Amino acid sequence: MSKTHYSILSVISLLVLSACHSLWTAQTQPAPQQESILVLPVTDIPLPNADFAFLFPEEPKLNEQTSPRKNITENFSNREKNDIAVTDPLLMADENSMLIDLSLIQKEDYAFPLPGAKVISPYAGRRKHHSGVDLKTCANDTIISAFDGIVRLAKPYYAYGNVIVVRHYNGLETVYSHNSKNLVKPGDYVKAGQPIALTGRTGRATTEHLHFEVRVNGQHFNPNLVFNLQERKLNDQCLVFTKKGNKIAVKSVELMPHQLAGDYSYSPAARKNKGQIESEKETL
Ligand SMILES: [Zn+2]
Repeated sequence: MSKTHYSILSVISLLVLSACHSLWTAQTQPAPQQESILVLPVTDIPLPNADFAFLFPEEPKLNEQTSPRKNITENFSNREKNDIAVTDPLLMADENSMLIDLSLIQKEDYAFPLPGAKVISPYAGRRKHHSGVDLKTCANDTIISAFDGIVRLAKPYYAYGNVIVVRHYNGLETVYSHNSKNLVKPGDYVKAGQPIALTGRTGRATTEHLHFEVRVNGQHFNPNLVFNLQERKLNDQCLVFTKKGNKIAVKSVELMPHQLAGDYSYSPAARKNKGQIESEKETL
């Protein structure tokens, strides 16, 4: 190859290389920056009305407890002012079960109904169908309300003698019977620990004592599930009330369900005292 040919070939090669480079840089150069405006796609298809709240579950509020029985008023019906076992249509109206976490009830919001008392006859127990627990101190001792609430009934009532029924905001009702004197009347607002009656032996009673009942929707259950009757203090368990036909079953569980990953943990005490409501013949 002559020198001239060699030079021409070199020039052609350089031209080709230069053209290739220009082409490559043109393709790889970023496009000039444009002002970025987010344009949402317009669509006629309606978006599904989904609730995505489940993606962000709320922390359970352990220190807050809403009252299971709302809208308690002092406007009781004649039946409510005259009968002890009265169903409450507003209690568990929309649900099959109800929880009362006793551990969340503050010290000032409960009181043992007869301070210093001893149990002289347990719920059910040796005396079949005993609808409450008999607590004894002495004659004319002060009986106090177990929780805040409104007095629903206060009068002499057959074998109960002078009796008080208090409807509580927590969903329960408590009954205080055989009183020598009632200190409150229907419609009265009472605080936990407020004197409501004096111990006596009115009605069917052989000694001065307090016959104390705990009821839910008019049905009595074991007061032992609410109070430790020996230590005279509130239990710190959670009570689960479940509708079973026209009755309500009561169980005591150690923890709130949301505090457990799995199923409820039933305490041995709860298994022993199932707290099943008895509506058959009762004794006082
Ligand atoms: Zn009794």
